[in-house]
Amino acid sequence: MPSALLKEGSVYRSPLLDALDWLEHGFGTRNTHGWPDRSRLVSLAQTHSDVVRIADGALGCIGEGDAVATDRPGLLLGVKTADCLPILMADPRRRVVAAVHAGWRGTARGIVRRTVETLRRSFSCRPEDLVVAIGPGIGVCCYEVGPEVAERFRSLLPELNGSQGSVRLDLVEANRRELIAASVAAERIWTADLCTCCSPEEFHSHRREPLLRGRMWSVIGIREP
Ligand SMILES: [Zn+2]
Repeated sequence: MPSALLKEGSVYRSPLLDALDWLEHGFGTRNTHGWPDRSRLVSLAQTHSDVVRIADGALGCIGEGDAVATDRPGLLLGVKTADCLPILMADPRRRVVAAVHAGWRGTARGIVRRTVETLRRSFSCRPEDLVVAIGPGIGVCCYEVGPEVAERFRSLLPELNGSQGSVRLDLVEANRRELIAASVAAERIWTADLCTCCSPEEFHSHRREPLLRGRMWSVIGIREP
């Protein structure tokens, strides 16, 4: 798994997705201004659900949901996060892209699994072809959760078994395992390994600054020919 990060201005990119010249993508930071291009942006009213929508040409907010997929060039699929994980997916064979917002609720509800299912069903994607980038989010270093949240992850993260009270939840690892369970190849999953809560100069963090409500864009899109 390549761990190198690319950074241009204040936007991070994954080398795995960057190698695909037919797409554009990026993970914004709190210092990102004037990006992404709003005139091509497709977004969601995010609700921590497992709802996946297809972008078929409409721009702006296309409804409630937490993942959006398309095979249409020119659109920029965007999710907004501040601790939750932005997850970007691409299928180089079918030329399809998806953007996912995954906090603990969405992860527990299986949002990445649902997204892979939708790509398979609606676009004939094969999970083993997918390339996935998990962007900056709250790290296991900072993400202490109560027993009721930990309970939801015991099957996905069996190492939590035996723990009592609060635990540190590894949301990146939970999503990585969900992807692998959905037949995505481990070597095609890239993780930014950047904790939003640890880096106040770079990232908004809901946990660190609950009153500020700042969120950051992450986008992916297919370039026009
Ligand atoms: Zn941290």
